Amino acid sequence: MRTIETDVLVIGAGAAGLCAALAAAPRRVLVVSAADPRVASSTALAQGGIAAPLGEGDSVEAQMADTLAAGCYSSDRRAALRVIRAAGEAVDYLCELGVPFDRGPRGWQLHREAGHSRARVLHARGDRTGAAILAALLAAAEGAEHIERLYGVAVTMLREGAAERICGAWGTDAEGHAVRIEARDTVIATGGVGRLFPFTTNGAAALGDGLAMALGHGARVAGLEFIQFHPTALATGEDPVPLLTEALRGAGAVLHDQAGERFMLGLHPLAELAPRDVVARAVWTRRLRGEAVWLDATAVFRGEHAEAFPAALETCRAHGIDPAREPIPVTAAAHYHMGGIVVDVLGRTARAGLWACGEVACTGMHGANRLASNSLLEAIVCGRTLGRSLAREHDPMRRIRTRTQEESPPQLVHDEAHVQRLRAILGRCMGPLRHGRELEQGMQELDALGAQLAPGASVARRRLDLALAMVRAALTRRESRGAHWREDYPERDPARDAS
Ligand SMILES: Cc1cc2nc3c(=O)[nH]c(=O)nc-3n(C[C@H](O)[C@H](O)[C@H](O)COP(=O)(O)OP(=O)(O)OC[C@H]3O[C@@H](n4cnc5c(N)ncnc54)[C@H](O)[C@@H]3O)c2cc1C
Repeated sequence: MRTIETDVLVIGAGAAGLCAALAAAPRRVLVVSAADPRVASSTALAQGGIAAPLGEGDSVEAQMADTLAAGCYSSDRRAALRVIRAAGEAVDYLCELGVPFDRGPRGWQLHREAGHSRARVLHARGDRTGAAILAALLAAAEGAEHIERLYGVAVTMLREGAAERICGAWGTDAEGHAVRIEARDTVIATGGVGRLFPFTTNGAAALGDGLAMALGHGARVAGLEFIQFHPTALATGEDPVPLLTEALRGAGAVLHDQAGERFMLGLHPLAELAPRDVVARAVWTRRLRGEAVWLDATAVFRGEHAEAFPAALETCRAHGIDPAREPIPVTAAAHYHMGGIVVDVLGRTARAGLWACGEVACTGMHGANRLASNSLLEAIVCGRTLGRSLAREHDPMRRIRTRTQEESPPQLVHDEAHVQRLRAILGRCMGPLRHGRELEQGMQELDALGAQLAPGASVARRRLDLALAMVRAALTRRESRGAHWREDYPERDPARDAS
């Protein structure tokens, strides 16, 4: 067993974790990631971009209005305002780090995505924005003296020290050896939960482990039922399913059913640019009936915007599809978690010594449904805020006891069969269309799965507990709101609107 001591432990090396680590100087930070973040983070996969009110005639108020409308009267206004107000500064910061945001002859090249009342989404290297942002943050972290990086260690359990303070974590390295990390402060930045669904755009690391650990240690969580499904993932049956960015629809791509009807026209005034939950449900309904749904982007790929979507073009071609000539088969897929670990304005959780940022955290900004491209923005702004808060607590003289009384490494086995069973159950009951009957059934199936777990299977148990908490949250929310759609309660309950 290896023991590592650090001042601050950041678990996760996506946009949120790296921004927190960079801003925490001069504190000594260890950034741990289960795998190289270039292949195992949602940040690396992000296509569409980062939303910021930088266009002519745009304003913080306008982005706020779109954010609140998409969030379906559930967003925390103050949290949303804090993040959107900081958008310009976040973009400046990324530019300083060298992110090559696309520009046109008249300034920023801004794209329009669903739920946005105007074009305001910045791209970098076309639809490879996330990879460009990640590359810049990783380069900055490599050059930062206060940061050490440890990739290939999956964190499996938090450690609790004196006065019930969280003081680091247990992990396991690629050879299966236990690693004990002692830290004064611990930041969870492990991303989302998409991987708990059988149909997802999220990569292998998005198993919700950070959220599950925090839940297991009594941190407050909220909004667990709010899972966003992306309406246009390539319907190839792959795992994960490749995403076709919403900006394609912003540039003019349209959805057809198998009869060739542009079904979104009759469903929402914004048609294909309606909020994601509306489009995803329309796509999913048809897929459940066994029908194919097509994204017709021929006009985009034949037109002047074609070069703005190199990743989408490459994905289509890799699947034998020429998007300039033929429509693309699409499906809805689990994509983003609005809920998570409840944090305050600084990123503190309810547990001393434990912080969270990025997709794993719940600031309340997204409410019941995230507005497209607001998540990278939130990860960057909140990651930096959190890091600065840690920096303010810098005290080189202070030593704290991070050793706990008695500890032994947790059972470190990743049980793939267990994960696949969880995915199957959540896929049946927690998809874009939910029903109390199926949620009840899901709870029973999860209980039965729990009864089969060997004592001490701590990682599997925590994942199961998280799945149970998600289904329970969906079951107790007896209304339809944003991404949470109950066929047995199809109306929104105004009593549950945010004040
Ligand atoms: C295909 C796709 C496209 C997207 N497009 C956009 C977009 O255009 N605009 C936008 O705003 N948002 C987009 N999103 C969402 C956005 O990318 C994410 O919400 C955001 O990047 C999350 O950043 P993060 O730092 O919180 O987590 P991530 O970037 O997911 O990073 C999580 C980190 O935690 C590590 N980790 C996880 N579990 C463990 C563990 N147990 N131990 C150690 N390390 C662990 C991972 O390996 C990784 O390093 C997209 C998401 C996907 C999947």
